[in-house]
Amino acid sequence: MNCIICESPIKFFLSKEYTEEPYSLFMKDIGPIEYFKCINCGFTMGKTIIDLSHQRWEMLNSDFHHYQEKNNSAINQPPYLHQATFLKVLSTNGIIDINSTVDYAGGYGSLSKVMNKYFEMQLAVYDPFVQGNTKDIYVPKESLKNYSSVLSSALFEHLTNRESFDNINNIVSDSGFMFIHTVICENIPNDPNWFYMDPPVHCAFQTNKSMQILMDQWDYRASIYCPVAKSWVLFKENNPDVKRKVDLINSEFQTEYIIHKEGFVDYWKGF
Ligand SMILES: [Zn+2]
Repeated sequence: MNCIICESPIKFFLSKEYTEEPYSLFMKDIGPIEYFKCINCGFTMGKTIIDLSHQRWEMLNSDFHHYQEKNNSAINQPPYLHQATFLKVLSTNGIIDINSTVDYAGGYGSLSKVMNKYFEMQLAVYDPFVQGNTKDIYVPKESLKNYSSVLSSALFEHLTNRESFDNINNIVSDSGFMFIHTVICENIPNDPNWFYMDPPVHCAFQTNKSMQILMDQWDYRASIYCPVAKSWVLFKENNPDVKRKVDLINSEFQTEYIIHKEGFVDYWKGF
């Protein structure tokens, strides 16, 4: 098997065994997870997890989500308020059009609800498994073609194959953007206790290099990153207007609220 990002060979990286409940129970018949890392781009995957049968993978996800819900545990939850603020700032400055955007695999629509209640903004949600009570925010799969930009929050780290990444990108038109919240760093730490590897359902870990390769493959030219929202926005064009507006926003807030770069904003260099 080769890297699903750049197709270079992958090598064994580390093994992780769950010894504490509840994960030790969820993983009992699966055993330790072996992670493999690409020798070129550093993209790392939980090979044991991605090799599971579809049925076993669904069961692991179901165990994990039920545990999270029952215990009201907030494991690596996205910073919804900061994400909503970031989207509002971008929208007010005409950098993005929220009406053309869909939150892909948006689950229970937590971000959309925060945006609606506190910012009076509508963010459509698509989720293959969830259709919440607030039906008006959910869009069916056949309507995805009506959107030109995509938002994915806490999703990239759960994807098990290349097609799943491409399906997200396929929504984006030439003038659209891709909003991403996940952890992306220079080098994946060689440490089975690394916080992002803690949930067994996290099986895909991007690096700055693998993201730059994806941007090139998908034809994105520039990106911005908002540290407090822990989110990136990738743009198909390197429009000088975006850079000018980012400078203006930063001077208004008198802080480097947004970072702009041609290519991928490689903000995180280590942990
Ligand atoms: Zn690679």
